[in-house]
Amino acid sequence: MTVVVVPQLRDNYAYLLVDEVHARAAAIDVAEAGPIEAALAARGLALEALLSTHHHPDHTGGNAALAEAHPGLRVLGAASDAARIPALTEGVHDGDLVRVAGHEVRVRFVPCHTRGHVVYVAGLDAFTGDTLFSGGCGRFFEGSAADMYHALYEVLGTLPDATRVWCGHEYTAQNLAFAAELEPQNEALAARRQAVEALRGRGEPTVPALLGEERGYNPFLRVHLPAVAAAVAARSPGLDVRDPVVVLGALRALKDEWR
Ligand code: ZN
Ligand code: FE
Repeated sequence: MTVVVVPQLRDNYAYLLVDEVHARAAAIDVAEAGPIEAALAARGLALEALLSTHHHPDHTGGNAALAEAHPGLRVLGAASDAARIPALTEGVHDGDLVRVAGHEVRVRFVPCHTRGHVVYVAGLDAFTGDTLFSGGCGRFFEGSAADMYHALYEVLGTLPDATRVWCGHEYTAQNLAFAAELEPQNEALAARRQAVEALRGRGEPTVPALLGEERGYNPFLRVHLPAVAAAVAARSPGLDVRDPVVVLGALRALKDEWR
């Protein structure tokens, strides 16, 4: 499947899922309609559907304009958050298999960053919004550490190592700088930091990240490991490191306060 990255605002990414045979596409997480229209026009693609991972304006700010410009446009998002997702036409639920622009896309419900956050999985491509970032994870605005643990370990955790992670923001370099304070000896992390520095130096995005590689350096996918739990505990007095959910919550709190 062809995925086109469309930068939005300061550090957001929208994506086009392209169906080359029928010259059509689905868009994911559109903050601004203009760059999406330009990307479609440059490739001669019709817009068939729009998918939102969650309601925040930096992921849905372009919904109304695209719906107006493309009559009959399907707009998908969590049914349980229909009231907050602009121009929604199709509420989706955990486990739904939807067909957009010729691609089968599995919906998984991962409330935490917001109570209506979903991720979209199309084969080996996962669109993770503000739940999983490269090197980090989203803030727990409307959920608990147990909710994010479920999302990262029981939902995204079941996806194969070869899964490409297309996340909602270019936060990778900052995320990895924080991770390096926790795991200064992690060689996979050092290698990823070098690769990210080179990509950013050329003005290129750090997506997609490979899920199997993320498991080697993203601390939020590593809270079950004794070395990561110990590093979190050393900065969080009195923590019960036997419970990975507790470690994940403490890790998020450390990141919230970092710098
Ligand atoms: Zn968000
Ligand atoms: Fe966001």
